[in-house]
Amino acid sequence: MNHALHPKREEPSAEIGKSMICVICKLGETQPDVATVTLERDSMTLVIKNVPALICGNCGEQYLDEQTSARLPATAKEAATAGVLISVRSFVAA
Ligand SMILES: [Zn+2]
Repeated sequence: MNHALHPKREEPSAEIGKSMICVICKLGETQPDVATVTLERDSMTLVIKNVPALICGNCGEQYLDEQTSARLPATAKEAATAGVLISVRSFVAA
């Protein structure tokens, strides 16, 4: 009757600040770090550095939190509006 007790959760969660087992390789543990994210849109390539992320120590998979990934399209749009073909910029937090 008491099988509702599951202390070990296995749902993937990308909350920044909490390490977790990587859902891609299931071997590595993620660590808070900064990542470089590349966005491609039409003919534009935008490279955003210093993006806060959790990064798998084994395979290098990057996990961005919702707030962070929500800001990236706006950054890409801004660069597209400026007419750049390739741009490297630093992530600016909200
Ligand atoms: Zn991994």
